[in-house]
Formats: sequence, structure tokens, C-alpha cells
Amino acid sequence: MKPKDLRTELLPVWCTGCGDFGVLKGLTQALSDLEIAPEKLAVISGIGCSSRLPGYVKAYSFNTIHGRALPIASGLKTARPELTTVVVGGDGDGFSIGLGHLPHAIRRDINLTYIVMDNGIYGLTKGQASPTTELESKRTRGLAGGDEQPLNPVLLVLSAGCGFVARTHAGNMPHMREMMKQAIEYPGFSFVHVLAGCVTYQPRNYSDQLLQRSYELPAEYDKSDLGAAITAVRDGRFALGVIYKRPLEEVAATAGATADEDWTPPDAVLKQDLPTE
Ligand code: SF4
Repeated sequence: MKPKDLRTELLPVWCTGCGDFGVLKGLTQALSDLEIAPEKLAVISGIGCSSRLPGYVKAYSFNTIHGRALPIASGLKTARPELTTVVVGGDGDGFSIGLGHLPHAIRRDINLTYIVMDNGIYGLTKGQASPTTELESKRTRGLAGGDEQPLNPVLLVLSAGCGFVARTHAGNMPHMREMMKQAIEYPGFSFVHVLAGCVTYQPRNYSDQLLQRSYELPAEYDKSDLGAAITAVRDGRFALGVIYKRPLEEVAATAGATADEDWTPPDAVLKQDLPTE
């Protein structure tokens, strides 16, 4: 199945040049690479510009209420563990009204992939400051909360114990495709932070600025080192790549077996526990 076969007939209503287009493309490419058919896929979102994405992917999809995508996706995955379940949304949806759900989804470690398109603004409601809007931007543009520090979402998910954490840029298609692929393949809760430009409410060169502050993690970077991961996300620049991946042996130990023997991924364990009729 080619990426275009995973698209619905709906045309995206995003502004021309919006970073969300790249994410839609990267996600369908990754799903195509992994040969995930629409009837084996669920895409869930909350509310916001980026939360329109499920309507454009051929899958079981649900555009839920603001900030509630994770609990709804958790319920779905628990009931239908055979479905690859991807949760998508923006920084406003996920890190403000929905933030309380994030650490709990992480600690439950249900096999979901959560992709956040972070453009540092509320796009759908016309450009208010979001939890990740930077101080400089608030002060120079008079946005609300001029002295409030922005949230560091990647540090937050690492602190909460997320087993797979990656960051990419919506303008770098091969990189995004690879990050999404690895996140979906990870047998537990995975988080992908996407730097995505909002061409309407952020300054014209915002996406380029994000790119200039970004760097790809070097080949020798040890993604199983949680300490290195925390250091990498605290220096004010944007490290791109797989920032942290819990070794599968540790994941297996949590599930009570060894990775190379009879370990069953958490979703399959859930499936076995369900009534058979
Ligand atoms: Fe994208 Fe911004 Fe337009 Fe929303 S307002 S569709 S985030 S460019």
C-alpha cells in the first residue's frame, strides 16, 4: 500500500505552508513502510488545527474533545489491542488542557504513539500564546503571559518515564518518516515531538528559526542513556533524532519476561486477558 492509498478523499483545510501537511505526509509514509492497512489502524485526536489530521488518513478515526485524545485512545487500545493506534494533536491541546492525561498515559505504558505538532501557538483560535510559546515571542509580540516560562515537553515526558522519545522537524521528510516508523514499532507508549511551523500566526521565518536552532544527534549518541537524553533536551537547542529508547530488555523485565524468549508486548498481554466471545 502506497502512502497516497492511506489518504481519504478529504482535502486538508490547513493554510498553505502549514507544517501539518508535512506531518500528514510523514505519517502516511511511515504507515506505508510498516505495511499497516487502514482496517488495522486507528488515528485519534483532540481539538486544534493539527487535530484535523485523522480526517485525512484512511483509518478508524476519532476527532474527540479538547485535550482528551489520550484517555480515549487508551480505552480504544485496551479494547482493540490489535489496532495500531496513533494519537495526534498540537501543543495547546496536549500540553495545556490535556496535560494531566500525559503522565498517566506514560505510566500505563499502553502501546500508543503520540505525535505532537508543536508550533508554539494556538492556531485554530487565532494565535494566542500556548504552553510552549517562548518568552521572547510573548514579550515582543505582546502575547498573554509575557513573563511565563514555556514548558519543555520533551523533558517532561522523559521525567514521567516515557520509554521512547524522539524529535523531528516537519520540513525534514526523511527524518520525520524514520522517527514515526521507529515510534510506531516501539512496543509501549512512544512520543514524537514535531517542530512544526504555523505560517499564519507565527513570524514568517519561524520554521527556519526552528531549523537553525536544531541539530541531529550524532551517530555515537547513546539513546539508551537517560542521563544523556535529559542533558540533550536542556540546552536551549533542539536535538533531533531518537532522544531516548528504553532497551527492550528493560521493557521486557517490566512485563515479567525476557526480550528474546517468551516476552509478549503489553498490547498482546491485554488481548489475552479479554473475554474470547
Ligand atoms: Fe497551520 Fe497555523 Fe494555519 Fe492552523 S493557523 S492551519 S497551525 S498555519
